[in-house]
Amino acid sequence: MPSLFIDGKWSAGSGGTDDVINPFDGSVVETVDLAGPDDVARAVAAARAAFDTGPWRTTPAPERGALLRRIADLLVRDKESIARTETLDTGKTIVESRIDVDDVTAVFRYYADLADKDPGRVVDVGQANVLSRVVHEPVGVCVLITPWNYPLLQLSWKLAPALAAGNTCVVKPSEVTPLTSVILVQLCEEAGVPPGVVNIVLGDGRDVGAPLTEHRDVDMVSFTGGLTTGQAIIRASAATVKRVAVELGGKNPNIVFADTPIDLAADWALTAVFLHAGQVCSAGARLIVEESVHDELVAEIGRRAELIRLGGGLVEGTESGPLVSAAQREKIEKFVADALADGARLVAGGKRPDEPELQDGFFYRPTVLADVSRDSRVIREETFGPILTVETFRTEEEAIALGNDTEYGLAGAVWTQDMARAHRVAGALRHGTVWINDYHPYVPAAEWGGMKSSGNGRELGPTGLAEYQEHKHIWHNT
Ligand code: NAD
Repeated sequence: MPSLFIDGKWSAGSGGTDDVINPFDGSVVETVDLAGPDDVARAVAAARAAFDTGPWRTTPAPERGALLRRIADLLVRDKESIARTETLDTGKTIVESRIDVDDVTAVFRYYADLADKDPGRVVDVGQANVLSRVVHEPVGVCVLITPWNYPLLQLSWKLAPALAAGNTCVVKPSEVTPLTSVILVQLCEEAGVPPGVVNIVLGDGRDVGAPLTEHRDVDMVSFTGGLTTGQAIIRASAATVKRVAVELGGKNPNIVFADTPIDLAADWALTAVFLHAGQVCSAGARLIVEESVHDELVAEIGRRAELIRLGGGLVEGTESGPLVSAAQREKIEKFVADALADGARLVAGGKRPDEPELQDGFFYRPTVLADVSRDSRVIREETFGPILTVETFRTEEEAIALGNDTEYGLAGAVWTQDMARAHRVAGALRHGTVWINDYHPYVPAAEWGGMKSSGNGRELGPTGLAEYQEHKHIWHNT
């Protein structure tokens, strides 16, 4: 089936084709069609026309909500095959992919429910003859650009609220992992989304992403990805004063006070950082430990990290899959080599696995580094791979200062039995999400996003809907 969907029709596109690679063994999962410049232009024109003249923006909100609910039902129907495709495309374990599909379903249901509970408001201006209303309208044509680590999930955080608000969209998934985004658009079509409302074009940032962000007829770009790409998109959007929402990287502190049981701290330190082989924007990559328990905790984490079972995502019992690409693994190897050259101590990993059956994939052993110089790149930059660094603190103030000593501000955690301290630290951390005695959970009803260089927007929750709305004031002198 052709991979581009423009104005309600599937087509092959004029940009040639690309092989989608399975990170487990380097094999070709599927060959997809790429968009050429004419396809990008057609996709924007279709979204523009569907917004300006089509029925979608004026469709009553409850009907839009019903359609989102149908998409959610189709996701439930196809859960297993979608999860399988996500695993083949990204390398993550099938267990993780199934959770992703469940989460995506929940996101569509959440915005289905919110769609008709967002009526705007009447403002009392103190004059009996004046009716002052703030109405919520869609922004217009929204370009949705997503990364490769959570292809389906990240798209749902954008597509569900954008549709609920009445926008039309051009979807541009990562060229590394486009498959489940194409499937989600197929489900939108099956659910009855009108032609032109959801379009998808495949290709890389240079040939497809950049022209979309520069296009005059695009009203908004919602982007999730790396910091430098986000900066380029903000610059590119400036010429046409588009609305831009960017969700970028993280360098997330996981702070452990000495009163945390060692078993619990070790368990969660590993889960925090090694989920999806560390390729998670909110990965707890910086473990910040109270000095008195440092040695004991690091030894335990190192022991457990060596036991993590690498393997194919579809193989039962696999605890961690490969990295997404050869390039990503080379990046990780360079981070580790530089850290060791800076004097870091290798506690676990630091190499490719020895198992013969893993040699064709992009695997790298979960790696733990202690005694890392604070100036080392591995502490300051997002590695986006299976590397945990360990730092120590003596006082609560020092823990907070270390937790905030990063240009990013996406997520972090604090572990302690002292709840007053837990909430003091959580309040003082300049990160968009802070977990207390937990790591990773999120819900569609609570906002997600970054402070500082981690981004300028919020996804999920009511704010995630407002991102895709104009709030317009109508003053009526009756
Ligand atoms: P990336 O920035 O390389 O690419 C992201 C997307 O942008 C891709 O679709 C790519 O084709 C496109 N793109 C690249 N250059 C472009 C340009 N000039 N104009 C328009 N589009 C362009 O990121 P990635 O490597 O795919 O993903 C990893 C990054 O995503 C990490 O930094 C991670 O932290 C971040 N991320 C953040 C969140 C969050 O919620 N904040 C979630 C997931 C991932």
